[in-house]
Amino acid sequence: MNNVRPSCERIAPLVPYDPKYLPAEAYLSANENPQDVPEEVRREINRRLKAMSFNRYPDPLANGLRDRIAEANGLERECVLLGNGGDELLFNIALAWGGPGRTFLNLPPTFSVYEQNARLTGTEIVNIPRRDDHSIDEEAVLARVAEGGIDYLIVASPNNPTGKLASEEFLLALLDATDALVMVDEAYFEFSRMTMRPYLARHKNLVILRTFSKAFSLAGVRLGYILGDPAIVTEFIKVRQPYSVDAVSQIIAETVYENRASFERGIVSIIEERARLIEQLRKLPEVKAYPSDANYILFRAEGAGEVWRALYDRGILVRDFSAAEHLTDCLRVTVGSPEENERFLTALKEVLIERRKA
Ligand SMILES: *Cc1c(COP(=O)(O)O)cnc(C)c1O
Repeated sequence: MNNVRPSCERIAPLVPYDPKYLPAEAYLSANENPQDVPEEVRREINRRLKAMSFNRYPDPLANGLRDRIAEANGLERECVLLGNGGDELLFNIALAWGGPGRTFLNLPPTFSVYEQNARLTGTEIVNIPRRDDHSIDEEAVLARVAEGGIDYLIVASPNNPTGKLASEEFLLALLDATDALVMVDEAYFEFSRMTMRPYLARHKNLVILRTFSKAFSLAGVRLGYILGDPAIVTEFIKVRQPYSVDAVSQIIAETVYENRASFERGIVSIIEERARLIEQLRKLPEVKAYPSDANYILFRAEGAGEVWRALYDRGILVRDFSAAEHLTDCLRVTVGSPEENERFLTALKEVLIERRKA
């Protein structure tokens, strides 16, 4: 036979995730840390990798890493689970709390992976769009969960790509109002410095997602983790692939986590650069820059698709959301090194001046 029957019905209409990562001189599209892992930490990683047995399976649950993360957060090992990037854990929540006959509450515009995973698992999606300023329609969300039937929801805080934290009062009201599993995605926690962790003990339905990809410069290594009640962690363990976190990644992340203080200066610099970038963007009459608690800034400019192209022609890659629902004419720029940010600002000003003439 030279023919194949179609894939599962709900997979057929899906579009593969495309990070739109094109070759550029300044990579400001993926919210990565502009600095790589510090040299002395890399040396220690290399030393430990030399002693590693490549022929042996890794510890399936990465208990060494689990213990370090648990201790730093004042939790037991059973409250922590590692994943192959935060993305794996976002898939696992859909596998464990979603599925046919189950419902996910989504707050668009937000991280598109949430919706993709719900579709992939045949989960029904209820959308409650954000307001025009991208704040959560809190009354509508609380009213909807009060109706019942929501199995899980995910609140990115800060939200990607819009940038702002959810309010703590709202998240607490939400946790009180529903028995749905509420994941607070804190992928950018190190830049917002706000966490729901203190409320884990009081709210069994709270699970927090974090990642090594942003503040800790390990986007290439693929490690994320959740913090939650041991009973929730057990359900995630049931659906995960046993060896998704490989031995090399475990060694790298353990070393980075032990040395996480050495990332602090870089994080402070990104927070300072974020303020400077917003201030500069707000001086441009064509641009509306939204506030941010993360390491990126969403901004709106008329003809954003063309602005994206003109920036790219100048070697600068930002993320184009101009055609995305609820994000008309929006681009997202990652806060890079001071040099990259300057380059971005200079290029953007040039592009806007050219457009004024046209
Ligand atoms: C980057 C990101 C993640 C996790 O990314 P990984 O690289 O898979 O760890 C999760 N949520 C949001 C909102 C993100 O932006």
